[in-house]
Amino acid sequence: MLSEKLKKTEYQGAARLIDKADRIVIFTHISPDGDAVGSTTAMLQYLRKLKKEVSAIVYNRFPDFLAWIPCSDEIHIYENEQEVCDKLIELADMFICLDIGEWKRVGKLEEKVKSRMAETENGTAKPFTSIVIDHHEDPTMKPDILISYPDSPSTCELVFRLICRVGDFKLIDLQMATCICTGMMTDTGNFSYNANDVDSYYILSELVRLGVDKNTIYQKVFQAYSADRMRLMGYCLYHSMKLFPKQHCALIALSKRELMRFNFTSGDAEGLVNIPLSINDICYSVFMREDVDKIKISFRSQGLDHPVNELARQYFNGGGHVNAAGGELYGDFSEAVKKVEQVILERL
Ligand code: 5GP
Ligand code: MN
Repeated sequence: MLSEKLKKTEYQGAARLIDKADRIVIFTHISPDGDAVGSTTAMLQYLRKLKKEVSAIVYNRFPDFLAWIPCSDEIHIYENEQEVCDKLIELADMFICLDIGEWKRVGKLEEKVKSRMAETENGTAKPFTSIVIDHHEDPTMKPDILISYPDSPSTCELVFRLICRVGDFKLIDLQMATCICTGMMTDTGNFSYNANDVDSYYILSELVRLGVDKNTIYQKVFQAYSADRMRLMGYCLYHSMKLFPKQHCALIALSKRELMRFNFTSGDAEGLVNIPLSINDICYSVFMREDVDKIKISFRSQGLDHPVNELARQYFNGGGHVNAAGGELYGDFSEAVKKVEQVILERL
């Protein structure tokens, strides 16, 4: 039996708002991961079954190893289809945000959404309702219904719970189940961290019962490396990784030049930050890479007594979960590396 978790006010409130809505837009975070794409596509299909006119928008494209997810090809990419997306946002009477707790995380879409909000407030655009379903700490969004459970291993689990609690389990078909299972697997490293909640296995068993082929999802997501990506991994571990034994920390930093050498494309860095945690005595891992217009930093740690979200928030304009967080820096890459090293030395 699944524990209750969601409050009655949350799932009934969400159901009531969805019932009244006609044109729904789903948002998820920039650089979407498996949980973002999985929860978005599951929700998209669910709302279609409720006969809603629904679309989904993300700021930028997701990596190829997620592009097989059912209905993922229907997600609008804001970067490529700005006009279409702007129109959808203007016409929407409901926004559903998945796997995000703050507007900043939708990327440049934020401006468009904020201006739509302002127009509604001053009466020049129609009203809209909003739901947020998320598992990040300290959400700052103020929707009509906030379903925020930082202890939930994935947003996909929360979507599953919501659908079940409103009595629509029967609407979950194999495709939707596959989307949900993918997000559960990717946000837990195939059930190797945040994976002690017995409910996750109950949900997983229901999904497998619905026909989900977990083995194949694993292959498609975790064993779909290009040769370049595999060599980049080797390079990171052999050449780039710097250890800070006293701080029990590893740092990998990749400049634009280094990335170009391995024909870097989106998703190639996925998971690299986790690898150093396999080293004995390393309980913090930091990964940074020079992106087009910013420097992206990822943090991972082991154990509740080694939080990294506070560090990300305080020094790198970011945030996240206790053991998985991220942030960004701007400017010169080697200066940024120095700053990160300084924070490691002084704060860990
Ligand atoms: P990743 O390192 O995989 O990019 O991100 C890990 C987690 O850190 C994400 O699930 C997200 O919660 C959080 N995170 C990453 N980047 C940012 C950021 O720039 N701002 C905030 N608030 N959280 C971030
Ligand atoms: Mn997530």
